[in-house]
Amino acid sequence: MNGRVFDISRACYEDGPGLRTVVFLKGCPLDCPWCHNLEGKSFAPEIAFAAPACIACGKCREACPRGIRPEEWKKWREGCRACGKCAEACPAGARLLAGREFGAEELAREAARDEEFFHGTGGGVTFSGGEPLAQPEFVLAAARSLRGKKIHVAVETSGFWPETLREKVAEAFDLVLFDLKHVNPEKFRKATGKDNRGILDNLKGLIGKGVSVEIRIPLIPGFNNSPEDLQEIAVFLKGLPHVPPVTLLPFHRLARTKEGRFDRKYPYADFPPMTEQELTAAKALLRSEGIIVAGSS
Ligand code: SF4
Ligand code: SF4
Repeated sequence: MNGRVFDISRACYEDGPGLRTVVFLKGCPLDCPWCHNLEGKSFAPEIAFAAPACIACGKCREACPRGIRPEEWKKWREGCRACGKCAEACPAGARLLAGREFGAEELAREAARDEEFFHGTGGGVTFSGGEPLAQPEFVLAAARSLRGKKIHVAVETSGFWPETLREKVAEAFDLVLFDLKHVNPEKFRKATGKDNRGILDNLKGLIGKGVSVEIRIPLIPGFNNSPEDLQEIAVFLKGLPHVPPVTLLPFHRLARTKEGRFDRKYPYADFPPMTEQELTAAKALLRSEGIIVAGSS
């Protein structure tokens, strides 16, 4: 069983407990305009070009079956087959392949490489994306294999998947990091083009099954960061069978550096990053509703 991965990050501390290896799955069925993982949106493999790193050696062109030159990278959409030969040949890391095929067992072996550090820190492996559960059988098989090695496994998900997956998700992961973007159906639909009822039902269903869940709310300017939006989210959370701890993820613009690499527009490029005061106020509002919010301020 094969699936597609765009990155594997080691020694991470933010996506679950302890030291973690984070596996980023390619592709997402939502199209959130603020998403900073531009390379995680499409399910298809893509080649990126980091022009400042290029030393103009010409090795990519020699390796390319289509003879595509580095300066022609904007034409890759039409001509490139994303075979990755140029990325393999590039000595400067200027060409990168986002979207490598793995077998589930192969991925589990690769993700388990730092196993000795996981056990020492209470860490493990987190599947992220993209939307990892958009490649469900692949990710579930890799997760089961890791748990068979006694490795803690988490999944970071938008919750946008069919109800039929719920039981399998509940069984396959030690922890679900649930990205709750908004509870308001109109606002969610306007931003993503999708219905959020299934997402909210999946969240309720996982909590009802006793699954260990942490909620992560990406705070997006003009979408969910006003006091009214946060109040609406708080009301929803308080209606859950049990209110999980919440982590607020302040908006940032790191995706601006990826725009050029992937020749893709980032609509939030000019939005100001969130200030410390705004973040503190958002935390205070949720805490005033009795919700446990991570962080000291
Ligand atoms: S990914 Fe393959 S087809 Fe595309 S530019 Fe690189 S070598 Fe050429
Ligand atoms: S192989 Fe890499 S460094 Fe050399 S020309 Fe191509 S992109 Fe630039």
